[in-house]
Amino acid sequence: MKAVVAVILGLVAGFLIDLTAPQAAPAAAGTQGRRSGGKGAMSHSPIALVRIGTVPSSQVEALVPAVASAFDRDVFVAGSVDLPPQSFDPERRQYLSTVILEVLTSMRRPGWERVLGIADVDLFASRLNFVFGEADPGSGVAVMSLARLHDRDTTVFRRRAETEAIHELGHTYGLGHCRDPRCVMWFSNTLAESDLKGTRFCEAHAHELANARQP
Ligand SMILES: [Zn+2]
Ligand SMILES: [Zn+2]
Repeated sequence: MKAVVAVILGLVAGFLIDLTAPQAAPAAAGTQGRRSGGKGAMSHSPIALVRIGTVPSSQVEALVPAVASAFDRDVFVAGSVDLPPQSFDPERRQYLSTVILEVLTSMRRPGWERVLGIADVDLFASRLNFVFGEADPGSGVAVMSLARLHDRDTTVFRRRAETEAIHELGHTYGLGHCRDPRCVMWFSNTLAESDLKGTRFCEAHAHELANARQP
């Protein structure tokens, strides 16, 4: 119930926030780009992935095919950005995802359809003990963290990361949470629940995504 309230608060604030269980460096844009993926949708603007902090580039590049397939867009790693020092809360030892969203918004280029930042530190948002990610549909930017997704089984970890990436990007197109536990937009309350949902949109959300992209 607490989680539902938290999400509603996020919606009121204009952000979509994801969490599991309720409990409790200067920005410097990199320049190297790497383009990949996509199912021949060259006429569309690409989706940019941005490494945040010390995330290995291989873990970001590994997301490219799944994101490209889910959104039928070219996806590329746009570069990297340091964790904004002002996002760090020394008492909580966590990073405020909303501040990271602001940094990502400032580095978004007009030609990028959406931006997803990938971090590997524990994120939190206002009133929430931690979040998996946060999205701002207004600016078309989202952030996610791998920190709570790690697993000894690299296949499980990869799938969790793909699911979270697609889920947060789905929010940037205005998609809300789903009642269908197989839909990637399902709001999962635990990692075990996350592992049950797929990386695909349900029919209704696929339709909503297509409508959201109408010129
Ligand atoms: Zn969500
Ligand atoms: Zn759905």
